[in-house]
Amino acid sequence: MHTNRLDAHALTHTYGHGDTAAPALADVSLTIGADGPEAVAVMGPSGSGKSTLLHVLAGIIAPASGRVLWRGGDLAAMRDAERTRLRRSDFGFVFQSGQLLPELPAIENVALPLMLGGGSRSGAEAAAAALLHRLGLGSMLTRRPGELSGGQAQRVAIARALVGSPGMVFADEPTGALDRATGDAVMSLLIGATLGHGASLVVVTHDPEVAAMCSRVVRLQDGRIVSDERAAAPAASYGAARAEASR
Ligand code: ADP
Ligand code: MG
Repeated sequence: MHTNRLDAHALTHTYGHGDTAAPALADVSLTIGADGPEAVAVMGPSGSGKSTLLHVLAGIIAPASGRVLWRGGDLAAMRDAERTRLRRSDFGFVFQSGQLLPELPAIENVALPLMLGGGSRSGAEAAAAALLHRLGLGSMLTRRPGELSGGQAQRVAIARALVGSPGMVFADEPTGALDRATGDAVMSLLIGATLGHGASLVVVTHDPEVAAMCSRVVRLQDGRIVSDERAAAPAASYGAARAEASR
């Protein structure tokens, strides 16, 4: 069994109570990373439960029923502090936008998770600088988010997600605010860099082209998985993503 394995069993989730109750997940089971790192796209119409699934898998919200096991350990059985530590050290997150602290330069935004985890400033900034260089942002270390393009800001967000060497990266429409060309480049980098770090990626997307770059596509409808397909052969851009990340 691969170490960085996430198992979800019969997840359900409902927001609200009584008359306002809205089922968001219904009997969702899936395993990610069982055979090594993989890039999984989660697709489905608006309101189908994609973001809810991501948050439940990452232990950000507790499911109403069902279980999530990370490396065989039940998230629900962990103390809050342990779950928080796990979210910081084992999981990385990339959102659509707005996750960088506007007052901090890129290098400090990326170093922050390591410092929150107890690392020294100098060690954290050295790791952040190395990763930003690898992601093509070596000349942007001291820029604040407001001084970066949308695509550059997302690359900083990717660096921040990866700096702690997570086993799993969760991304919710990470290219949703970018134009096509920039979004494709950012997505290639996200897939290549995540798999290159030995982590799996779970990425929520509306975009069929983004999904085509992934090795597996899970489709949700009304909170249920309606299909779960692996690519017969990795898309061409998938190989390109790996090449790009290794540069
Ligand atoms: P998606 O990401 O696929 O658009 P979501 O997981 O955000 O879907 O939402 C699934 C369902 O749960 C929708 O019906 C949505 O309206 C509802 N929902 C999501 N978040 C909340 C919330 N915080 N409070 C109440 N209902 C919510
Ligand atoms: Mg959503």
